[in-house]
Amino acid sequence: MQHFPVFLDMARARVVIGGGGEIALAKLRLLLKTQAQITLCAPDILPEIAAFAPRITLVRRPLLGCDLGGGRLVYAATGIAREDARIAALGARAGALVNVVDNLEASDFITPAIVDRAPVVIAIGTEGAAPVLVRKIKAQLEAALPQSLGVLARIGKRFRAMAEHLPQGARRRDFWAEYYDTIGPRAFVSRGEFGVETALDALLARHLDAAPAKGHVDFVSAGPGDPELLTLKARALLDRADVVIHDRLVTAEILELARREALLISVGKEGFGPSTPQADIHRLMIAHAGAGAHVVRLKGGDASVFGRLDEETSALSAAGIEWQVVPGVTAASAAAASIGQSLTSRGRNRALRLITAQDMQGYADQDWRALAGPGAVTAVYMGKRAARFVQGRLFMHGASPDMAVTLVENASRPEQRIIATTLAGLPQQAAALSGPAIIL
Ligand code: SAH
Repeated sequence: MQHFPVFLDMARARVVIGGGGEIALAKLRLLLKTQAQITLCAPDILPEIAAFAPRITLVRRPLLGCDLGGGRLVYAATGIAREDARIAALGARAGALVNVVDNLEASDFITPAIVDRAPVVIAIGTEGAAPVLVRKIKAQLEAALPQSLGVLARIGKRFRAMAEHLPQGARRRDFWAEYYDTIGPRAFVSRGEFGVETALDALLARHLDAAPAKGHVDFVSAGPGDPELLTLKARALLDRADVVIHDRLVTAEILELARREALLISVGKEGFGPSTPQADIHRLMIAHAGAGAHVVRLKGGDASVFGRLDEETSALSAAGIEWQVVPGVTAASAAAASIGQSLTSRGRNRALRLITAQDMQGYADQDWRALAGPGAVTAVYMGKRAARFVQGRLFMHGASPDMAVTLVENASRPEQRIIATTLAGLPQQAAALSGPAIIL
């Protein structure tokens, strides 16, 4: 990020614009949305600009150093390269931040595209990379955000102090969500600004009287790693969570989607690696949900596949805490998709086995005879270290060394690797992997 977005207090700022034509007018229109004190210097000034006096101060000659006293922002907007460069140099000498219109390299700052629902203001920028994209995003946001948003936010701001009487966290958030999602827009449409205030008053009274919310736990499936493989429900819950307790396998891109104020707790779980004792995970969930928090227990892949889900749900039930499970994409599905194959195929396999190569005791025993048979399809989870063991057991039960084996490492992630081999080559190929992998 070369350009860092900030919101500048313009109530106390002086802005100087050099230029009096169309380019200057475009910037001026934006700046007039602010409370800044504006001076515009140019020998020739468009009548449309002149009409803004006395809101702006006009100086009918080229910009000089003496015009810049106390100026915080300087726009070089003459459209003439040499003149813009002269103004930029003066601005720099005066210690102001300079924008040379349409010249990224020569500018200290750039003016983003703006979606204005003041006090809700959205700035969009691509550091000059993709103006087309900026226009598209702006159009989408303009369409998505109701015009009443600014009014709602302004009224909401006046109620903030009162809303502090609601306990921080889920209850206060629920109040504001109800205001912005339903009560506020509805009141605005039917009775305008005054109606919004009355409705907000009533809503606050209702929330202040409400019984304290009970915490609960959502077991959310994070999928194999690609954030786009999350379900809509998973995204919505992540967006509302107070606490996210996640496995180490869950990728950073997915954790990014959690509410910014959410407490993120990593509970490591890696075969053979360091791990958080299961009882500690139970205690964490019960403590946070018991205190009224909305807890998301985020598990890699599908929460119900080799994730000790039932142990965790039982612990919560025993503690009297409500929970639900949100299903997701398991690693075997992602692995099959990555090689463009079907996990079941008419005439080839009538069953699909998802097996784990290791369990609490070590390497897991299986119905090896069935797995070794012709046409059987198996997805092996946690199989990297156990690859030689799996190979040995399958050979013992008559599998051919030519049995097709595909390893998919980091399925659905940018680092995804696909290795096609045979049962004979399995241990050697598995030993070379470093990320999570499915053996098909
Ligand atoms: N609940 C998870 C599985 C947890 S067990 C699911 O449904 O996918 C952990 C194992 O899942 C890993 O050892 C690996 O075998 C597999 N795994 C998880 N994510 C994976 C990925 N992105 N690519 C390949 N295998 C993955």
